[in-house]
Amino acid sequence: MKRKIIVGNWKMNPTTLSEAVNLFKKVKNTAQRLAHTHVIVCPPFPYITKFTSSTAKPSVGIGAQNAFFEERGAFTGEVSPVMLRDLGVSHVIIGHSERRAEGESDEIVAKKVQAVLESGIHPIVCVGEKDRDAHGLYLDILRIQIKNSLAMIPKRLANQLVIAYEPVWAIGSKEPMEPAVIEETVIFIRKILADIFGQENALRTVILYGGSINFRNAPDIIIRGKVDGLLVGGESVNIPGFTELLKAVDVV
Ligand code: PEP
Repeated sequence: MKRKIIVGNWKMNPTTLSEAVNLFKKVKNTAQRLAHTHVIVCPPFPYITKFTSSTAKPSVGIGAQNAFFEERGAFTGEVSPVMLRDLGVSHVIIGHSERRAEGESDEIVAKKVQAVLESGIHPIVCVGEKDRDAHGLYLDILRIQIKNSLAMIPKRLANQLVIAYEPVWAIGSKEPMEPAVIEETVIFIRKILADIFGQENALRTVILYGGSINFRNAPDIIIRGKVDGLLVGGESVNIPGFTELLKAVDVV
């Protein structure tokens, strides 16, 4: 059975350290019992050092929700990938639609992706159309977004890349995309990746789906959507829901 990757994006939750510690403890307890699933949680920056571990293969990987493209210097409020690597962070979400909505362009995303890769961390690059038109224009929009966002990746590091396909209209909407449509779009994304990095890299790239995943729909989306895993927002901070999700996904 292929190992699935489940990433929990906590976003700006929870609001206290004690709640965060409790949530992490519960995720870790469940993750330790999974045989076929790698769990990564992405807490807000202030909580990260509470959860990183010096063990080579921790039962829960730690990710960040953003990173800047410079290593150090006069960049007030920014956090560099090198700092995150030093803390034991293994993954960083880059170009989430909530950040793109705040003005993060494809060009900035591309610089961040390059910096994260060079620091030795896996970027989880979020891509996805804002809506779907009847004429298929969204396919061009998606292609351009992917090409521009990945424009600065050194080919030697392409195998470290993770893509999260997140149609913006499906995020936080209670209705995920139809699994058959996810499968189709993932094939389309792999074709674009093949144009950029070659077929071999494209086939090896981990592609996640994100958008209104819960414990009920997660197994079906993995099986019929043919994705390597999921990026989970709201359900990742709901202890009973995320626990059920991890258990359900582990056996499909
Ligand atoms: C997200 O914001 O990355 C996400 C997938 O959110 P949700 O699961 O809440 O739709």
